Amino acid sequence: MKARDDELDEVRALAAKVAAERFGPRAAEMEEMRTPISLEERLYLGELGFLGIVHAPEYGGSGQPLRHALAVIEEFAKVSRPAAFQIFEANTGPAQVVARLGSQEQKERWLPKIVTGELTMAVAISEAEAGSAATDMSTRLSERDGRLVLNGSKRWISNASEAELYLVYCRMSDALGAKGIGAVVVSKDAPGVRFGKPERLMGFRGIPSCEIFFDDVEVPQADVVVPAGSFGKLFETFSIERLGNATMSLAIGQAALDRTVAYVQERTQFGKPLIQFQAVQMQLADMVLAVDSARLLIERAANGLGPGEAPDTLHVSIAKCAANEMAKRVSDWAIQLHGGYGYAEEYGLERLHRDAHGWAIAGGTPAMQRIRIVSEMLGLRFDQRA
Ligand SMILES: Cc1cc2nc3c(=O)[nH]c(=O)nc-3n(C[C@H](O)[C@H](O)[C@H](O)COP(=O)(O)OP(=O)(O)OC[C@H]3O[C@@H](n4cnc5c(N)ncnc54)[C@H](O)[C@@H]3O)c2cc1C
Repeated sequence: MKARDDELDEVRALAAKVAAERFGPRAAEMEEMRTPISLEERLYLGELGFLGIVHAPEYGGSGQPLRHALAVIEEFAKVSRPAAFQIFEANTGPAQVVARLGSQEQKERWLPKIVTGELTMAVAISEAEAGSAATDMSTRLSERDGRLVLNGSKRWISNASEAELYLVYCRMSDALGAKGIGAVVVSKDAPGVRFGKPERLMGFRGIPSCEIFFDDVEVPQADVVVPAGSFGKLFETFSIERLGNATMSLAIGQAALDRTVAYVQERTQFGKPLIQFQAVQMQLADMVLAVDSARLLIERAANGLGPGEAPDTLHVSIAKCAANEMAKRVSDWAIQLHGGYGYAEEYGLERLHRDAHGWAIAGGTPAMQRIRIVSEMLGLRFDQRA
């Protein structure tokens, strides 16, 4: 039997090959046209097993540890974030909530199709007036004439209008703050679901985003995944999504570094390659230090986790904060070291930088991660409203 790391190397190499061959040639065009990957391409990712890496074999997955999924997300995200996004959602995103907190019937209904790519599920937490303060959300599930109906709206939802299913966090009781919040799954074509016009973001192009409106959307009891009172569990599971997010940032930083390493050896000024200048060497070393530190922090949070195990939330917040800020910094330095070429769309570095900003806002900003870091390290709760 092969050692675990050989398997990891193999899956990473396959991911890098598929990403480069299948998505590399179209990455710039998808960005320019803001085109998401097609259903056919999603099914192809499913066929190759990339959408079910962490899911149990009984649902069609391969039951591998989280670090395998993160390696695949990284390789795709270096080349095409829209393609990587599908792998991220299926392995580290809302599907994890279904896998860990859903009923047996819900797992059987949704996971096999998420693993094949027939269905994709987006996560809808943020609202116009509730971002960092997510527990201020007002989208509400209420009982009316013996039926559950959902009313409210969500904003900045990645893959909105494209995904067939939405894990919608909502208020389910009059209990204040987090205590009243749970999550339901809503289908794209359920009566009363409406999508706003596409949000034109600085980056994340090729990953559609828009508002979602819920007007008296009937939710069958069978589609309630997490009842009110389990917000703690929801957010513990969300830490897996945060590791996926940190990995997207890692990929951006690594890609910016790799391209810069090649460029400073090729580009000649004053009669010698840029790498011969000591100031350039210092800058490159800082990029390596930043990327490697973020990588090790992600590995600390993810390595050693068996299938179904949850990461340490303190380690996740540290990794996300470090990786998000690293990607912004390193992609910025990469642009600078490429001079005018770095500023040209054709070189793709400005795209990496624009996407780096998006990952640092999505999933909880670095400021919110810092609050969590101190809170968890000291075992103290800091009331942001007091
Ligand atoms: C590219 C992208 C993709 C996204 N995808 C999704 C998605 O799929 N699903 C989803 O539900 N949401 C998504 N979001 C929304 C995202 O989660 C929120 O934008 C994020 O949580 C921040 O909320 P906000 O935009 O309302 O900013 P605000 O909460 O208004 O924050 C504004 C600034 O104030 C700071 N701040 C806020 N409170 C504090 C505090 N107590 N102490 C110190 N600083 C503070 C923040 O750090 C930030 O810098 C996405 C956002 C982006 C940009």
